Amino acid sequence: MSLADDCIFCKILRNEIPSLKVYEDEQTYAFMDINPANPGHVLVIPKYHAPNIFEIPPEWLSACMVTVQKIALAVEKTVSPDGINILQANGEGAAQSVFHLHIHVMPRANGDDLKM
Ligand code: 5GP
Ligand code: ZN
Repeated sequence: MSLADDCIFCKILRNEIPSLKVYEDEQTYAFMDINPANPGHVLVIPKYHAPNIFEIPPEWLSACMVTVQKIALAVEKTVSPDGINILQANGEGAAQSVFHLHIHVMPRANGDDLKM
């Protein structure tokens, strides 16, 4: 793990801030979003502090995407939503608010009018 002192997601990885874990492996961690856009909104993060897509080493990004697929498959199988969005923001102009790379996995329901 390569973490930062003042990053909220690194604090989650160090167990300094509680989170609702849904999955974990050597390189990644998945947990429920504290302010879900939709029920079942999960975040996937690397156990490596990088602020965005530009600075994450490819092997860590790959590990995250494998975990994203696992989460999406589990959601598809258990909840059977009408769809699933996968979203990752880079920069304030893209509405990024936490600067530790994270990937949103958001189940969708027909007509839910989710704003992203
Ligand atoms: P962004 O806007 O950067 O793409 O997404 C950041 C996400 O992190 C938001 O959906 C927000 O609700 C979530 N978030 C921020 N702080 C916390 C926290 O302390 N715990 C959890 N579980 N989610 C958080
Ligand atoms: Zn961090």
